[in-house]
Amino acid sequence: MNTPMRDPTPSLGEGAAVVAFDVGGTDTKAALFDGSGIMLGLSRTPTPHRGEETVTAILERMQELTDEYVRAFPAVKPLAGGLVVPGLVDDTRGIAVHAANLTWKDAPFRQLASERLGIPFGFSHDVRAAGVAERRLGAARPFRDVVVVVIGTGIASSIFIDGRPHVAGGFAGEIGHSVIDPEGPPCICGARGCLEAVGSAGAIVRRYRALSGTPVHGAREVLRRAQSGDSVAEDVWSSALDAIALSVAQLAAMIAPEAIVIGGGLAQAGDALFSPLRERVDALLSFHRRPLLVPAQIGENAGLIGAALGARERSHGTQADGMRS
Ligand SMILES: [Zn+2]
Repeated sequence: MNTPMRDPTPSLGEGAAVVAFDVGGTDTKAALFDGSGIMLGLSRTPTPHRGEETVTAILERMQELTDEYVRAFPAVKPLAGGLVVPGLVDDTRGIAVHAANLTWKDAPFRQLASERLGIPFGFSHDVRAAGVAERRLGAARPFRDVVVVVIGTGIASSIFIDGRPHVAGGFAGEIGHSVIDPEGPPCICGARGCLEAVGSAGAIVRRYRALSGTPVHGAREVLRRAQSGDSVAEDVWSSALDAIALSVAQLAAMIAPEAIVIGGGLAQAGDALFSPLRERVDALLSFHRRPLLVPAQIGENAGLIGAALGARERSHGTQADGMRS
């Protein structure tokens, strides 16, 4: 049963018109947001992979998409842009340090995007941006101490302490690569027994296939098989829940968040995820403040909405210019 979701694409509210990009390993999402914060022209195109020219190719694509928006929506003039990318990202310096399946190293994206498009740019990590979107407009809104965890192909999180994002040079929030079992399966990061290697949607699919010999399309299919009595699926699903619960309990002990918001593909499982997870977390904790476990509200465009919110922040110095032109 699905936990009901709110309107997945909330308005940003009143402010500058901005253009936003969420560059993923496979696809690039883009959209224009008008002065009332409504999303226009959402598009999804393959991310260009061109070896050492990848950064240049991405900037070219951003320029092309922006030109298309100018033609399609002549009344909406973006005063700033927002860009989010995966991997290790130093928000403060505006640099993409590296990403697993994209070939950049220390790419100064914020400056490059700003020079290329001629508008100021906000730049951040995709999951941190999704966290900002949940914190400002979604399920994390009521909380000052809150962690937004995104469980999909991988697992990452966005930490807010006293209402502010905790970034630590881009290294904070990598909960997917915290070890939950030193004897566990190897992880793509090179370590062994990371949460991501057991608890991610990607790991659920991989482990089910390896143990049963049967390919499945997604973690939801493994869940369905578990619910209809497939014992291999039950084991894989259950060990994923155990792993996630252990990480949540560690977060509760260290950060004591009021709530942990869970989004990404796996959260679509709704009560089938949240009910057993709450029970497991409860059993692991003693005196700790028990975090509320709540589903994300913004849905799959949270990273893009976060990019747009970052662009709005950058636009503050430019609104006067926009009004003069
Ligand atoms: Zn890892």
